[in-house]
Amino acid sequence: MTLLDGLATSRQIKSELAQVVKEMTERGERPPHLAAVLVGNDGASLTYVTSKVKSCEEVGFRSTLIQKDASITEIELLQLIADLNSKADLDGYIIQLPLPKHIDEKKVLLAVDPSKDVDGFHPENVGRMALGLPCYLPATPGGILELLRRYQVPTEGKHCVVIGRSHIVGLPMSILLQRNRVPGNCTVTITHSKTKDLDQICKQADIIVAALGRPEFLKGSMVKDGAVVIDVGITRVEDSSKKSGFRLAGDVEFSSVSPKCSFITPVPGGVGPMTIVTLLQNTLQARLARN
Ligand code: NAP
Repeated sequence: MTLLDGLATSRQIKSELAQVVKEMTERGERPPHLAAVLVGNDGASLTYVTSKVKSCEEVGFRSTLIQKDASITEIELLQLIADLNSKADLDGYIIQLPLPKHIDEKKVLLAVDPSKDVDGFHPENVGRMALGLPCYLPATPGGILELLRRYQVPTEGKHCVVIGRSHIVGLPMSILLQRNRVPGNCTVTITHSKTKDLDQICKQADIIVAALGRPEFLKGSMVKDGAVVIDVGITRVEDSSKKSGFRLAGDVEFSSVSPKCSFITPVPGGVGPMTIVTLLQNTLQARLARN
């Protein structure tokens, strides 16, 4: 069994990005600039945004954290987005989800300039991804592809089962893995909460991407020998032995699944760090496109 070490791989990619930025600044060019908008004070969202901003600093990007109170109106948030769209020295930005219930996430998403949509969530980027055109790949599936590529995990002709059909993980993952690319050319089955006989479907999979948000859902009995297992889940589970009072759990029961795998991602240290570096890669792509 080989551990797909997202932390080590992300460090390698960060050092490659830092080198590119160093060369840019030595030529007198402006470094890439990413902004992150955080609405409200959800603890998990703050942790994610802070680590994105910190990662920018590590590679020499400029970053701006914009924190707004949960009481911000939809109109005010849309005005902020219009301002970010027109800022010439800003290459890309993200709006950390979820947003407060009184704000329509779809409206917000549609207001983002697709050329600054480094999360790859705007319908224009999703459509371009589906058609195999240049686009910003959504960060989590993009990071998984990069991990598969760097570990040279064979995907061609493999049966891949994706558990979960969310717009940010499961659906784009299924689209990306079926493309005529490397990694790609999988035969993909996408599953969700209404899927019947999921155990049997998973048992037939060469590759499983678990992205449903249910701690330790995928058990060893659902996985065939030699499978590749990608664990996207991150759920905070109460744990009184930890100072924080919680631990992070994946969607895969690592103890029973890992002995059967050819490759598997750990949680933490697997998909999470790869998600962040894909955001950085997208921001660099956005910067280069603005030349
Ligand atoms: P989501 O929007 O809640 O979607 C969950 C998907 O799983 C839905 O399609 C749902 O089906 C399906 N599902 C739920 N229970 C199921 C079951 N028993 N059997 C089969 N399918 C089931 O979640 P998400 O945003 O995609 O995130 C999934 C997990 O990944 C979460 O733990 C999240 O924290 C984590 N995540 C991690 C990263 C990272 O960087 N590592 C990034 C994003 C998300 P229906 O469509 O039928 O409801």
